[in-house]
Amino acid sequence: MKFVYFFGAGKAEGDGDMKEVLGGKGAGLAEMTRIGLPVPAGFTISTECCDYFLKHDRQYPKLLAGEVKKNLEHLERVTKKKLGDAKDPLLVSVRSGSARSMPGMMETILNLGLNSKSVEALARSTKNERFAWDAYRRFVQMYSTVVIGLSKEELEEKLRAMKARQKVKDDTQVSAAGWRELVDEYKAHFKKKTSKDFPEDPEEQLWGAIGAVFGSWMAEKAVTYRRVEKITGLLGTAVNVVQMVFGNTGENSGTGVCFTRDPSTGEKVFYGDFLINAQGEDVVAGIRTPMHLNEMAKRMPKVYKQLEKVRKLLENHYRDMQDMEFTVEEGTLYMLQTRTGKRTPMATFVIAVDMAKEGLISKEEAIERIKGEDVERLFYPVLDPSVPRLELTKRRIAAGINAVPGAAVGKAVFTAEEAEALAHKGEKVILVRRETSPEDVGGMFVAQGIVTATGGKTSHAAVVARGWGKCCIVGCAELDIDYETKIAQANGRTIRGGDWITLDGNEGIVYEGQVKLVIPELPKAFAVLMSWADGIRKIGVRANADTPHDAVKAREMGAQGIGLVRTEHMFFKDFEQPEKSVERQLAIQEMIVADSPDARRRALDKLLPYQRRDFVGIFKAMDGLPVTIRLIDPPLHEFVPHDREKQEELARKIGVDVDVVVRRIEQLHETNPMLGHRGCRLAITYPEIQDMQVRAIMEAACACKKEGVKAIPEIMIPLIMDKKELQILTDQANRVAQQVIKESGVKVEYLIGTMIEIPRAALLADQIAEVAEFFSFGTNDLTQMVMGLSRDDAGRFLPDYVDPNKTGIFPEDPFVSLDVPGVGMLTRWGIERGRATRANLKIGICGEHAGDAPSVKFCHEVGMDYVSASPFRVPIARLAGAQAVIEERAAKGRSKNKGKAR
Ligand code: PEP
Ligand code: MG
Repeated sequence: MKFVYFFGAGKAEGDGDMKEVLGGKGAGLAEMTRIGLPVPAGFTISTECCDYFLKHDRQYPKLLAGEVKKNLEHLERVTKKKLGDAKDPLLVSVRSGSARSMPGMMETILNLGLNSKSVEALARSTKNERFAWDAYRRFVQMYSTVVIGLSKEELEEKLRAMKARQKVKDDTQVSAAGWRELVDEYKAHFKKKTSKDFPEDPEEQLWGAIGAVFGSWMAEKAVTYRRVEKITGLLGTAVNVVQMVFGNTGENSGTGVCFTRDPSTGEKVFYGDFLINAQGEDVVAGIRTPMHLNEMAKRMPKVYKQLEKVRKLLENHYRDMQDMEFTVEEGTLYMLQTRTGKRTPMATFVIAVDMAKEGLISKEEAIERIKGEDVERLFYPVLDPSVPRLELTKRRIAAGINAVPGAAVGKAVFTAEEAEALAHKGEKVILVRRETSPEDVGGMFVAQGIVTATGGKTSHAAVVARGWGKCCIVGCAELDIDYETKIAQANGRTIRGGDWITLDGNEGIVYEGQVKLVIPELPKAFAVLMSWADGIRKIGVRANADTPHDAVKAREMGAQGIGLVRTEHMFFKDFEQPEKSVERQLAIQEMIVADSPDARRRALDKLLPYQRRDFVGIFKAMDGLPVTIRLIDPPLHEFVPHDREKQEELARKIGVDVDVVVRRIEQLHETNPMLGHRGCRLAITYPEIQDMQVRAIMEAACACKKEGVKAIPEIMIPLIMDKKELQILTDQANRVAQQVIKESGVKVEYLIGTMIEIPRAALLADQIAEVAEFFSFGTNDLTQMVMGLSRDDAGRFLPDYVDPNKTGIFPEDPFVSLDVPGVGMLTRWGIERGRATRANLKIGICGEHAGDAPSVKFCHEVGMDYVSASPFRVPIARLAGAQAVIEERAAKGRSKNKGKAR
């Protein structure tokens, strides 16, 4: 096996495709050398060697020493300099670089090869004694701390003391004698701490540095970074040994970082920073303020022109925006790194569309380059990027699961009522709850953001907030919330009711006080790219929307219909006429507490006009597009108060004895409500509830038709487990629907179908399809029931199953990204069996997975007609639908070519 790859003098053994083996930096250096760019010569020791080193108790493979020696000699020939030479010494940098960028997480050693002889030679050859001794002290310091592990602080202290003796403030003012003095002190310190002299032999220095870089792969900060960034499957870091070039030899030298396009806006301008007379880390450290490239163009016009050429060459070569590092040594440009540049979501769209228009990439490639999170983050306010990180660190209170991105600022409130009361007065509030339930929707609606101590990404809070595009953090277990005292505590900090807090839903962090937010403007490129995607996509995209307001939003986002209206959300909040909310709540509670079908019907009669109004609004917003309305789903206990005071109030308002209310609520108690009396089971027991809802839907549809609005209702029965169960409810719904059509005198086409949420329904899909005119896979419940994981509580331990460094049992949270092997298998089965009975069976999905790109691709693959996602995720689904087609075509192309080759 080959471990070392040379590059220099226009040739390279590796290339840009070898990132896994050479790391990003090594692959970039090899590729830049190949295409003729000015790159200092060097060699890369592979990640495979790192893997061996870490697995063999920090021993190198036997052949490595020989390979390094050979490559070092090659480097000396190419550079015409020798490591440790007393006349014109070669100096090298030893840098880490893995296949995925891990900025600042691993080690680097610069100026290696300096010793008491070569430093004098460097001083002579550069005619700059000060520079040579400054380089040497940097090397001794880096070697002592990085390779040997001496305390950085102790060495810094010596530097401070020396500057005080010399009566200077800045490093730039220190004289050659000062640096000499410091090197002596560092060496003495080294001897004292290690009982050894500081190594003079450059080869010994080199091997020490190689071991330190490999070892830094396992340093705590690097391991943590990989865990947080979910970086897995890499062998380790490569080591790049590269000839040193110096940006700090004087006014004709410098160093910089640049991007081929603006990484914030995506604009096609050359963007970057340059520092005259400086080394690379000075730019990153931010000690001095760098100049913009425009300024560099004036100061060093020739080099700038050359850099401009490199910019074009690299971008055309990689066909993507590049992030480059360079150094100018005495007027000569050297490229030190190139990689695909990180960019804001806005820039992602702008660059993809511009590059496609320029002909650099195809439209398909532009579509492929957008990730789901790029789309989602485009719409939400975010923390102002100019807020210093340090300030954020100081303000941090707690962290949870980032359920809905964006950011929000408001005063903390602990109950939904308080949220509504304060919001009514024009205050901005953040709802802080242990968890939320349908009772809380009013407060959730008016809040700027929501944070809950429990729950995962499909908990009530997450699902509801997502539907509104409202920033939401769930599973914030560090928050200890006391509703009595209205105090939440975490990590020694306290949030009292009324305190300002800020939520960062992108990162899942709660901050103290008001952090400044900004709303990124939607770039034109977004609409362009989405129209390209729509031209390619085959799968339909609908939205989950519960109110006319949401329906309007859904249409704006490009939804082709509504795939799920959760009717129960309307029972607690009148979104059009908020002052009527109390009447609605009372009517539903009266219905639940009713002790006879007649009493129940009376209460339902009160609800009917509200529901009808909701549906009219939704049908109008979706004029001409299908609207799937799901009948009542949650267990009834979620609609009634659980504390005595509110129960008494309810009894008073509906005119019954409080004991009747209390008894009824006790009766409703279930140990496993998610597997209990909910969904269509409620309609089996209380047919009059379904009758009222079907009547409201059909009356609304008929009324719309009379006004010239085309309503296309699809009545959806939830939680079906058996054909007979569905048959009974479908017959009953048809009876009511036909009755309404007869009464109103207008004919409205409608469908009656079901959700597939219970494994038994999927297993027996052929039978269910004899009755159902459509299926909608409710993959929230289906995942819960197939995997036996509570969607509300699994957030407590599921991270342990997903964390690749802990167990990595699942690659993703199965409530976020569909579990293809398990839930997916059942879905596939359900579709096949359903269509075996009814070939044209319309099939969709309305679980949260419909807004997750990989899950949408699965839905395309298994032949679903549509996916239905929350409005803000509709664009993700539109894009993923197109990506699915592109990837399918590419796979077909590959297999065709394989066939030809044979
Ligand atoms: C589902 O179960 O996937 C679904 C959409 O219904 P809900 O989330 O309302 O249970
Ligand atoms: Mg469900």
